[in-house]
Amino acid sequence: MNNFSAALNAYIEQVREWGQREVRRAGLEADRNGAPLPPDHPYFAAYVDFRRRHPVPADDGAVPEGPAVRMAAINEENAYWDRGMGVAAPGPGLPAPIVTAAGTPEQRERFLGPFRGTDIPRWGSFALTEPSGGSDTAAFRTRATRTDRGYLLNGAKCFIGNAARADWVLVQANLDPEKGRAGQRSFFVERGNRGMTGIKIEKKMGLRAYESVSFILEDCEVPHDNILGGERPERTSKSSAYGATMGTLNTTRVGVAASAVGLARSAYDEALNFATQSGAFKSIRVRDRLEVMYRQLRAAWLMTLRAAWKADNRIPNIVDASMAKVFAAETAQDLASAGMEIVGLEAGAGHHLVEKLFRDAKALNIVEGTGQIQRIIMARNLVGLPR
Ligand SMILES: Cc1cc2nc3c(=O)[nH]c(=O)nc-3n(C[C@H](O)[C@H](O)[C@H](O)COP(=O)(O)OP(=O)(O)OC[C@H]3O[C@@H](n4cnc5c(N)ncnc54)[C@H](O)[C@@H]3O)c2cc1C
Repeated sequence: MNNFSAALNAYIEQVREWGQREVRRAGLEADRNGAPLPPDHPYFAAYVDFRRRHPVPADDGAVPEGPAVRMAAINEENAYWDRGMGVAAPGPGLPAPIVTAAGTPEQRERFLGPFRGTDIPRWGSFALTEPSGGSDTAAFRTRATRTDRGYLLNGAKCFIGNAARADWVLVQANLDPEKGRAGQRSFFVERGNRGMTGIKIEKKMGLRAYESVSFILEDCEVPHDNILGGERPERTSKSSAYGATMGTLNTTRVGVAASAVGLARSAYDEALNFATQSGAFKSIRVRDRLEVMYRQLRAAWLMTLRAAWKADNRIPNIVDASMAKVFAAETAQDLASAGMEIVGLEAGAGHHLVEKLFRDAKALNIVEGTGQIQRIIMARNLVGLPR
């Protein structure tokens, strides 16, 4: 259902072959084990090799689509094979666009440089959420205190992707609580820092293929150079350092929507294949159900692509991005649920992929701003709901 350029379709075809051969299998292995594959699992070295042979199309005109549409197309295909393995994939991950947008040139080189052209699987991580809640960023309790030697971080974080295996975790902490949100800054905490303690990998109902980690920051000392954007943030961002970080999350939201579409497409295909093979499609009710699923899937994808296209064309897309995130995440949940019902007993017994998709889907409505929070963002922009 894509009208992408031949060049982008050719790249997606490579992602598809890799997904079919390796990603689905690895995701099922992690799900069965109830734990992410260890960092030294051969899958990750093979992944790094795949990415070296098939680098993501760069901004050099080889693929005419803009970066947001490219990201949406690739995320959608990756998530079709396994959303959890997509997040577990070696690389700087979620913080990469934040460091690119808000980091100093030295920080971009120091923290992102090692990910370029490496043979070794390595990860980055971004820690925002705290045990007291993830939505209300103004209420975050993690504090940063400046000393002669650097910054001391104190607080706790939870559900942080890839944090136990990451080279560094970009931690959000408040340097100036009197300023509220505007006092927040991000700090690179490097692997092995003894102030990062109590590291625990959480057990999850779905997306078990990647680590979601809780940890405590106890007088966790980082050098002055490790504050994102440097000690004078006004040089690196138009607004505040907080604004630069949160603004980047607005763009990655479209990537989550695309992943939700990929997962939803997988659920649709599983339901269709089952209905075809079992003969269930002879029932008008099952055929109707499949048609509604396909229609919703198409709508979610078009909404996501429109939000991405607007981003590429520098058209304000905050409402489109939130709308796509809500609709696509709900579509993933709806289609996985309908898939469970069409497949029936085998799914209920946990013997069918659609059951795993059903467990995986829920988190897409939670991560990077829950459905309720997206509705608040849309309402603020559409009808001027006060903050
Ligand atoms: C699989 C997974 C991976 C994650 N990965 C990361 C990660 O890598 N890094 C990271 O920092 N975080 C991560 N998170 C955390 C995620 O960002 C938070 O779960 C999310 O922001 C919501 O925070 P919360 O769960 O603490 O819910 P809360 O903020 O406590 O909210 C609880 C409920 O109340 C609703 N709610 C809150 N405020 C309002 C309001 N004003 N109006 C209406 N409803 C409201 C919320 O929508 C939610 O349903 C991850 C979470 C999951 C499940």
